[in-house]
Amino acid sequence: MSSLDRFLIISVVLLASVFPVELFPNTGPMPRGGDGQFSGKQGQVVVVTIPELREATSVKGRFLGRTVTLFPNPAAGGTGYIGLLGIDLQDEPGAHELTVDAQLGEQGRHFSYQVLVVKEKFAVEHLKLPKDKVDLDEKAAARWKAEQEQVRKALAEESAMRLWQTGFIEPVHGKRTGIFGSVRIMNGQPRNPHNGEDIGAPMGTDVMASNDGVVRLVVDHIFSGRGIFVDHGLGLYSMYFHLSDVLVNEGDLVKAGQVIGKVGATGRATGPHLHWGMKVNGARVNPYALLGLPFPQNPAAARSLVAAPSRLSPAESNPIAVGSDTR
Ligand SMILES: [Zn+2]
Repeated sequence: MSSLDRFLIISVVLLASVFPVELFPNTGPMPRGGDGQFSGKQGQVVVVTIPELREATSVKGRFLGRTVTLFPNPAAGGTGYIGLLGIDLQDEPGAHELTVDAQLGEQGRHFSYQVLVVKEKFAVEHLKLPKDKVDLDEKAAARWKAEQEQVRKALAEESAMRLWQTGFIEPVHGKRTGIFGSVRIMNGQPRNPHNGEDIGAPMGTDVMASNDGVVRLVVDHIFSGRGIFVDHGLGLYSMYFHLSDVLVNEGDLVKAGQVIGKVGATGRATGPHLHWGMKVNGARVNPYALLGLPFPQNPAAARSLVAAPSRLSPAESNPIAVGSDTR
């Protein structure tokens, strides 16, 4: 073996130990993500764009077993496709594949992207609640299970129509009292991570629809209290919980900025606040992640700020004692 051969072999071995196996397709699994890369943190929304895809009759994305809906990119004058990929707050960090299958008349096209899920450092919140609010008896546990099933069924249907054209808005402007994704220790026991944001606001403050959509479900649940689920189309849902009043009915069309309810403390809540949640094709994402998307601003966004509640009372601004919940 010449010294050059030896040098090359050693170089390859060294490179293989430094670079991911995808660089050496002959020695590892088939390369995935050949069409590009995206990345985002747990609980965030990744904007996926495919500029080279045009005039498809159907486009469908898949990521970790979930559907990713893509639609003609309005910012690009209708050429190319854009989609919102929700990264669930508990998606495994690391590289995962997003596949996109498009049909252009008779011809099918397949795209493969690598999506890097970056670990988010979620806070830990300790909450102290009355014992019977944490430890459910048999009857309450059965009720909770049935309620979860009701929500799952209502949100399972894929809403094909995109009902919104502009960006999302904050439904209530206030102090955030419960943090998205936080690990919750209730009376010393670990519970599910917090799947929304809690916005502290005085009782009766207007709650606005975050975007155009249709009211899919109105509930009065053991934990969520009086709540509204709005279907925005293409797998996007917004949720508004613990309301004192609900001003819409199932099936109603709502507009961004429309007052749909009032802040309350119904269900398992330690004080008046809005629990605002968003789901993107089944992924629980931080609702505030929807505010920064590259869509034209909704005129109601300005009103959202004007509708800010008057200053919170000292009790209401206590982040732990008041204005939090426990799902
Ligand atoms: Zn909450």
